[in-house]
Amino acid sequence: ARAETDILRVSNLEKRFGGIVAVDGASFGIERGSLTGLIGPNGAGKSTTFNLITGVHRADAGRVIFQGEDVTGLGPQQLVGRGLVRTFQISRELSGMTVLENMLLAFQGQLGESLWRTVTPGVRGSLVEQERELLDRVWETLELFEIDHLAHEDAANLSGGQRKLLELSRALLTDPDMLLLDEPMAGVNPTLEKKLLDRIHELRSQGYTFLLVEHDMDVIMNNCETVIVMHQGQVLSQGTPEEIQGDERVIEAYLGG
Ligand code: ADP
Ligand code: MG
Repeated sequence: ARAETDILRVSNLEKRFGGIVAVDGASFGIERGSLTGLIGPNGAGKSTTFNLITGVHRADAGRVIFQGEDVTGLGPQQLVGRGLVRTFQISRELSGMTVLENMLLAFQGQLGESLWRTVTPGVRGSLVEQERELLDRVWETLELFEIDHLAHEDAANLSGGQRKLLELSRALLTDPDMLLLDEPMAGVNPTLEKKLLDRIHELRSQGYTFLLVEHDMDVIMNNCETVIVMHQGQVLSQGTPEEIQGDERVIEAYLGG
């Protein structure tokens, strides 16, 4: 019964880099509408797993099932189109562009085609209409994350926390069903951290599904209803924060390195 409510299922995922087995037969399911934490010691394979799920890396073996469909081998942009998006710890695109311009980047490669289709005589009105709706959404999202006052600021000048808010805002614009967040709280001060977590909980109650990798154990244990623990490329344990904290193997993995 549980599998039917899973928005995402990965089975026997494998990824090697030369002689290193980064992900070694990982399997787990993520329930729709849940907030799940993915934890594990450094080098456990968390980021690689994210990259396999979101099509950044191609798996050597295993399957990724999203919303009941096999999406194994699809690229990041195709997955975004299906409602699966990840935030990146970005910096590359940020510099030299304003917050607003960064937000508009979210539509790259998605709306482009449909927008161009409407650029023909007679339907220009609908293009203007679409652009207006798009801009409305951008501003609404900036307001939701309380960074609208920074819209014309060079994104390079944002604090670490504001940058995280921008990353999440931008991911949201792609109209996702599920968001994967890689260390969303890194470099975020307590005030912004609370703001970010509030937004995540709010979005969750609206039906969005979240999977997050986060080093801050308090964040994971106080906010996630399910925690997946990886160790040496494998899923060591999956359960509630209470179950995870009482799991001898988990404690050993962290202590033993
Ligand atoms: P985590 O995010 O849990 O810290 P990673 O998924 O980043 O772990 O890394 C898992 C293992 O794979 C590590 O041993 C790491 O050094 C290795 N690894 C990750 N990405 C690459 C890569 N692009 N090339 C070579 N080795 C990699
Ligand atoms: Mg990592």
